[in-house]
Amino acid sequence: MYRKQDLRQTLHRLMNELLEENGVEIYGDFKIEVADMDTLAFIKGSKIYVNTKASKYPLYVLKYIIAHEIAHLAVKGHTRKFWETVKHVYPEYEKGKQELLRRLP
Ligand SMILES: [Zn+2]
Repeated sequence: MYRKQDLRQTLHRLMNELLEENGVEIYGDFKIEVADMDTLAFIKGSKIYVNTKASKYPLYVLKYIIAHEIAHLAVKGHTRKFWETVKHVYPEYEKGKQELLRRLP
């Protein structure tokens, strides 16, 4: 229970850092929800859902996960335009992406 709340707070902080540092504006009041689920993360309406398992990931991986989901607000598929958007939200995303791919089964 505490683990979920801690992760949610951390993710909120990282999201705000990403948006401020990189001058990204998103409209509406975005919330992050931590849940036990099959997928790692997804975005629905004004909520980003992140798997409880992410609590064991380092911060730069969590930042990548958030940046990835925020980018999906602008671009649905994983196109070139999508990765450009991820880079805009989180310029150092590549390191987090590689580490996440290494950790996923
Ligand atoms: Zn995606």
